[in-house]
Amino acid sequence: MPSGLWPPAPEPLPLPVTDNHTHLDWDGGDDAPSVAEKLALASAVGVTQVVQIGCELDSAHWTAAAVQEYPHMVGGVALHPNEAPLHANGTHESGVSYEEAFAQIAALVHGERIRVVGETGLDFFRTGPDGVAAQERAFRDHVALAREVGLPVQIHDRDAHRRVLEVMDGDGAPPAVVMHCFSGDVEFARECLARGWYLSFSGTVTFTNAPGLREAAAITPADRLLVETDAPFLTPVPHRGRPNSPAQAAHTVRALAAARGDNLETLCVDLQANSERLYGPW
Ligand SMILES: [Zn+2]
Repeated sequence: MPSGLWPPAPEPLPLPVTDNHTHLDWDGGDDAPSVAEKLALASAVGVTQVVQIGCELDSAHWTAAAVQEYPHMVGGVALHPNEAPLHANGTHESGVSYEEAFAQIAALVHGERIRVVGETGLDFFRTGPDGVAAQERAFRDHVALAREVGLPVQIHDRDAHRRVLEVMDGDGAPPAVVMHCFSGDVEFARECLARGWYLSFSGTVTFTNAPGLREAAAITPADRLLVETDAPFLTPVPHRGRPNSPAQAAHTVRALAAARGDNLETLCVDLQANSERLYGPW
């Protein structure tokens, strides 16, 4: 978990946008602002809405309660691709089996302010070969759940681009698909966009060593583009390495505008329209 000095608020955006993916239950240390403070800081710079992602069993229950408490927040729930294998192989610290954990997620998605299933997907970086079968089973279960309840899905894809496409093509996609923290190149972006999916860009698009992400952002149609923080991780430049919070999405929006040659106001309007089309108003 990142720790250290919390970065100052960015210059406000001209129009409101939504942080499409954040983890406000992971606070990043003792000196962290409270959830209410983080939401207020974000609103003050134009990041007026957030999608809180609860992707561990405790986080999912936290999310289901928090979306009732904070009007600026809707939620997503799932078992993260690095969590599901631990439930499946009996090593999760909760002692809860995969079947029981997934049943709890499947119950939570019916909450009125739970608007997305996620994050789910494949992570061949952190889960080794022994966990891959359980991870893929969980991915397919979550995709089936999203189809069944008619919600979008947010996909975590780390070093697994090809297999994500194969699983989705084989099983059939839910009504809408978001590639959370998009990490591919232009070619993979085109594969996702050909399927009608949304690409969500995090602070990584501001990193000097990520020209490929800026190229991918530049070819994404305006009606398929989203912004997110994945806070407390992936803090954008100029505060890379320090703890992240939804307010910092303003830096990423400006980097997207620069990469795409977009007018900042127009980009904010597009980003907000895309979020509301996906998750409904809140
Ligand atoms: Zn995340």
